[in-house]
Order: sequence, then structure tokens, then C-alpha cells
Amino acid sequence: MAKILVFVEQRDGEVRKASFQAISEAKRQGAEVIAVLPGSGIAAAAAALGTWGAETVYVADDPNLALYSAEGYSEVVAKAVETVQPSAIFFAGTAMGRDLAPRLAARLGVGALADVVALTSDGEVFTARRPVYSGKAFATATTAGKTPQVISLRPNVFAAEELGGAGEVVALDGLDLSIRAVVKELIAAGGGELDVAEADIIVSGGRGIKGPENFALIKSLADALGGAVGASRAAVDAGWISHSHQVGQTGKVVSPSLYIACGISGAIQHLAGMSSSKVIVAINTDPDAPIFKIADYGVVGDLFDVIPPMVEAIKAL
Ligand SMILES: Cc1cc2nc3c(=O)[nH]c(=O)nc-3n(C[C@H](O)[C@H](O)[C@H](O)COP(=O)(O)OP(=O)(O)OC[C@H]3O[C@@H](n4cnc5c(N)ncnc54)[C@H](O)[C@@H]3O)c2cc1C
Repeated sequence: MAKILVFVEQRDGEVRKASFQAISEAKRQGAEVIAVLPGSGIAAAAAALGTWGAETVYVADDPNLALYSAEGYSEVVAKAVETVQPSAIFFAGTAMGRDLAPRLAARLGVGALADVVALTSDGEVFTARRPVYSGKAFATATTAGKTPQVISLRPNVFAAEELGGAGEVVALDGLDLSIRAVVKELIAAGGGELDVAEADIIVSGGRGIKGPENFALIKSLADALGGAVGASRAAVDAGWISHSHQVGQTGKVVSPSLYIACGISGAIQHLAGMSSSKVIVAINTDPDAPIFKIADYGVVGDLFDVIPPMVEAIKAL
């Protein structure tokens, strides 16, 4: 049976949803699933990973690993690779996973497959489907030669399934944690706002919302649906909202269950960040706006007329 090592990402002891998705996908591939979890004060998080399908959980619990550093975390994963000898290593394609996966691949001298949206295997070697040219096309790729294959999975594309059960938690010893570049403090922007990268529902505003004050309207719809607020680059560049909300090629790549684009034309660079959303709704005054080409539902209309009754109707429901 193939062995897949899954890098598990946590913040303040809370495991990211995208890591559960990575564990579940490893399980669906019929492999023995082994998790590796770096951090500090993470005993409870480690113990809970068994219910998601991790048979063994290697834990590196150390104050030096409280905050992410590429150097420290790649040391932990490399040590787990040495111990487990997996045929593949899965990462969630979050900002951390996108930083760590190529670094680890370079350290191990193996190939990496990034931003994967579908996987097949012949029992040993994985072949991945991944978007290229800002999502205009898909490439089918594999890595040649050496294992383990390093694979990062696009968040929210693969389902997370809690299976029940328990995994064996093992402390990872013999680590060299002499980290040269240390992160001293992490200050979260936006005080507790739901991150678009994690959200299951996103309502985004673009240049069509006319000004920063009208993000209140976008937020009212997002709040009614329990979702997060996203934005096009035009809105971010205009200074109407912070870059942490930007969706697209130079923003965040999202795959929520529902994406509502309000006053967004649908430029290719925006689509690159959201076209894998499960259901896309567009509200735009221009019936020829490119966003309608990929929308499942379209409303040709003025967002200032369309959104308020939508919010009322959702609240009533
Ligand atoms: C290298 C590069 C990287 C980029 N990265 C990104 C990225 O990450 N994310 C991103 O979004 N863009 C990105 N862009 C920019 C992208 O090309 C577009 O310029 C941008 O997405 C346009 O934003 P928008 O749709 O909000 O604005 P516009 O294209 O100006 O569209 C505004 C839309 O609002 C509609 N509208 C106007 N008034 C109303 C109303 N009252 N009600 C309803 N609809 C209305 C209009 O019909 C129009 O379709 C990038 C560009 C480059 C070159």
C-alpha cells in the first residue's frame, strides 16, 4: 500500500480546513495516511487528526515552531519524510503550503506538482490535473523519476470527510531547529473577519460598486449568507478595501460553494482566482460582461437595486 505523508497546517492550535481536505484526499487514494504537524501547544490538534483518517500523526511540538518559518517547518517535514519514506507528500495549496512545498521539493531533489485540482494514480505514481494560463486551460502532469512526489492541492476542491477513529500520535525527535530567520509576531489584519481563502460563501465587489462606502452593501449580503467579502483588483487598487480580500491571479485563489460577483466584469485575471467555485452568480448592468460566460446564474441589473431585496429575502428565509 502506498504511503502518503500529509503536511498539516494549524494556526493557534486550530487545524486549517484545507489540511482536512488533503488528509481526506490521501485517504480516498487508498493510501496509508500519515500526518505531520509542526507547531507549539498542539497536542489536542494532533490527537484529533485520527478522526479525519490519519493513521499515524508525527508531531513536532516546540516553542520554536509556534510561528511558521520555511526553514523550521521544512526541517520537520524533511525529518518525517526520512522516518516514513512516503511515496508522496500532500500539502494544502494555502499561502503556507505554496511556500513550503517547493522548498521541500528542492531540499529532497524531487519534482513538485502545484495547485492540483484532480489526481489519479497507477497505485504508485500520481498524475495531476492543474490549471495553467490563469485557468484558461488544464495541464495533465506527473513528476519524473525520484520519489516522494510533492503535491499541493487547491483548497476547497477536494471534500473533507470526517471518518471517526483514532490515530497513533508519535513525537518527532532529532530535529535541528536552529532557525536563522525567525518570525517574532503575527498580526492578523481585519480583526476576526472571515478569510476568503477559507470561506464557503464569498460575495465580491468590483469597480461597479462605485466607492469604498458601498462595500457595506456587499458585506450586508455576505453577512446574511454567513460568507466572506471578496474584491476585484480594481477595487483593491482604488484603495476601497485591503489586498487580503483580493481574488484572482495576484490575489487569493478560492473555490467556495457559492461565489457572488457584484459589479465585476470578469477579467481573465479575476477568473483565475474563482472559476473553480461550485456555483457562480453574477450581478452586472452589462449583459455582455465576460463574467456571465462562466456564471451559473446571472442578474442583468444595477447592484444597488438588486442586492437590498436579496438581503431581505435571505433574512426572511
Ligand atoms: C498582471 C495582472 C494581474 C491581475 N490580477 C488581478 C487579480 O488578482 N484580481 C482581479 O480582480 N484583477 C486582476 N487584474 C486586473 C484585471 O485585469 C481587471 O482590470 C480587474 O479585474 C477589473 O476589475 P473589475 O471587474 O472590478 O472592474 P471593471 O473591469 O471596470 O468592471 C466593472 C464592472 O461593473 C459593472 N457595473 C458598473 N456599475 C454597475 C452597477 N451599478 N451594478 C452592476 N454592475 C455594474 C460594469 O458593467 C463592469 O462590468 C490583474 C491584471 C494584471 C495585468
